[in-house]
Amino acid sequence: MTKRVVLIGHPVAHSLSGAMQQAAFDSVGMDATYELWDRTPMELADAIGELRSDDFLGANVTIPHKERVVPLMDRITEEAHATGAVNTITREGKRLVGHNTDVPGFKIALDKLVGKQKMPRHAVLLGAGGGARAVVHGLITEGFQRIIVFNRHLHRAEGLVKHFGRSASHMELRAMPWHESIIEAELAKTKILINATSIGLTSDESPIPAEILHGDLLVLDLIYAQTRLLRDAKSAGATTSDGEVMLLNQGAASFTLWTGQAAPLDVMGAALAAARAGGVRSAEGEPTGEPGPSAEAPAEASSEDSSEDSSEDSSEAPSETGAVAGD
Ligand code: NDP
Repeated sequence: MTKRVVLIGHPVAHSLSGAMQQAAFDSVGMDATYELWDRTPMELADAIGELRSDDFLGANVTIPHKERVVPLMDRITEEAHATGAVNTITREGKRLVGHNTDVPGFKIALDKLVGKQKMPRHAVLLGAGGGARAVVHGLITEGFQRIIVFNRHLHRAEGLVKHFGRSASHMELRAMPWHESIIEAELAKTKILINATSIGLTSDESPIPAEILHGDLLVLDLIYAQTRLLRDAKSAGATTSDGEVMLLNQGAASFTLWTGQAAPLDVMGAALAAARAGGVRSAEGEPTGEPGPSAEAPAEASSEDSSEDSSEDSSEAPSETGAVAGD
């Protein structure tokens, strides 16, 4: 019997996860399909109920359902509990288990960015949404001692800090108002800058001015594209990485949870790059539409960009549709 995995979101017309996971199933010779289920919040509970049948290996969950799905699970893992969000569902018989693989995906991306250097202990985080929660949990469990969160709406950053209250009691996790001078002062004291806002996803904008970036920074943008922030950071001499490693590794972790097998990372990475180059924008959290003109503007081959990378990409803006949302 063909096994089924579904991505539940709204909308989900195009998906990088679909390309990545189907290629993985095919490559290990598994008779399984990855389907896209566009379900409104009203339809969510019924969709989750369907997953209890034996046909299903599980599911991915994406915007806007990652948080709403939590109370519909029979059990959630520590990472899902800590972040308050589920992006992967597995079955234990008829019971459903909620996981959050954005967290291990982020930690692998962070490790790659830091490379052989000593892991820093201070970070500045831009954004306070679902992606930011995975980042904060990853940083706390990595042993960070100071995390400063900036967000357009301060109350959301404060809510995030409150959410992590107990698990962050041994360290400094603070929300600060989004003022350039405050961000600049904090950046001067830190090595790690993470963008978990969606600024740069659909337009060539940076959340912060280029002038406040410095060459000692290690900059991770969760967006899967050479965003303006990353190009500015590279010009300042910083080491940068985009969201590809996180996207790929959250997908790999989900694959392993469903199948019990090691994920074919090379195959998944190639499928991701091909889908991206072919114009798939990933519907997760983004307006959908026909594949955009990014078909002619393939993504960066690597997300592990360092300051010595060629400069040609640092002068070129991505097309309006060139950026890709994390699944
Ligand atoms: P959410 O919708 O939960 O959060 C969006 C964040 O962006 C909020 O902090 C929001 O601030 C901020 N924001 C949006 N527009 C603006 C604006 N115009 N000015 C200032 N701030 C703005 O989304 P997610 O957390 O799920 O995703 C955030 C980004 O991370 C997306 O680009 C997504 O693609 C990426 N991502 C990548 C992953 C990967 O695997 N690579 C995994 C998860 C996410 P406010 O609260 O004030 O509205």
